[in-house]
Amino acid sequence: MTAIELDSVTKRFEDVTAVDGISLAVEPGEFLVLVGPSGCGKSTTLRMIAGLETVSDGSLEIGGERVNGVEPKDRDVAMVFQNYALFPHMTAERNMTFGADAARDISESELSKRAAEGAEMLGIEDLLDRKPAALSGGERQRVAIGRALVREPSVFLMDEPLSNLDAKLRIQMRTELASLHRRLQTTTVYVTHDQTEAMTLGDRVAVMNDGHAEQVAPPQELYDRPATRFVAEFIGEPAMNVFPVEVRGDAVVHDTGLEVPIAAGEMALKGDIDAADLGVRPEDIDIAPLDDASAGTCTATAEVTVTEPLGDSLLVHCQLGDETVQVSTTPRAAFDPGERVVLTVDADRSHLFDRETGEAVY
Ligand code: ATP
Repeated sequence: MTAIELDSVTKRFEDVTAVDGISLAVEPGEFLVLVGPSGCGKSTTLRMIAGLETVSDGSLEIGGERVNGVEPKDRDVAMVFQNYALFPHMTAERNMTFGADAARDISESELSKRAAEGAEMLGIEDLLDRKPAALSGGERQRVAIGRALVREPSVFLMDEPLSNLDAKLRIQMRTELASLHRRLQTTTVYVTHDQTEAMTLGDRVAVMNDGHAEQVAPPQELYDRPATRFVAEFIGEPAMNVFPVEVRGDAVVHDTGLEVPIAAGEMALKGDIDAADLGVRPEDIDIAPLDDASAGTCTATAEVTVTEPLGDSLLVHCQLGDETVQVSTTPRAAFDPGERVVLTVDADRSHLFDRETGEAVY
């Protein structure tokens, strides 16, 4: 049985369609991340699962039961919000336990026991008597997560829980959430706009765009085999280079003369496509000074415009005809703005997208 199933779920707010027929199945124990740009419908999708928004169309099941009309408290889910949503006048412990008894019929003593266990897991045992004002942002977020733990729900729903924390704490809490999930194995749906969080936490990641899921896949698969141009450009930092090419026989050709063979099996063309977009990640382009490199297949000359040392790599921005192409190279490579270089594209790691539909042609 799937833990959560959305079948063509739509949410309309008067004239805004926030979620447009999304279908998703979350497996028991799975950590599924919803990621996508601002406004793509992530939070609304999560809030419909929580029961905080009604579903306009489609079917929503939790644990095999249709819950479209079921009250949030009867859904056996616990939500963690971005702004923690703690009561300022209650201690950390009371914040964790408050309301859980009414919804779940759990005794006072059982709740205290669970709060103590949760606090230990989260490393906040010594803070249980404090009120939120006397806690740091990271400690408040631990209390908010503790509140979800105490309920022992079958599903955790988390809406950008780490985005109010500073960068260092965010990374620390990310690791803690991952080990908490390994330990508890509770089905989790997690919303973020941060692709690093999505890639590191998710068993699978759903990339959302315009109210629907573009692709739902394990993180490495999203990176290696993006199903659409949108996913290709959204996942990966710095972003994949994508530029228009013409399909000529068994190769694609760019205006500058750059010609990349369509490797059999990898980019075998389905149907008749003559206008396509070639996608190449910055690390899959080799860069060399013009003098050193011999022109050949998959090569083109370009001009360096900007270099950005990133510590562990050097990002070189190049002008290739009308396109700006980003190339990632070894950290201490020396390239100067204005220098002419030869770029060599790795054909085996290139992607091709149908210009009309944006779909990957594999
Ligand atoms: P963000 O990352 O910025 O939080 P999101 O992907 O979570 O974005 P949603 O908050 O789900 O996006 O919003 C999706 C769309 O629905 C947006 O266009 C938003 O303006 C709209 N929307 C959300 N809630 C409401 C509401 N209560 N009334 C009207 N429109 C809404």
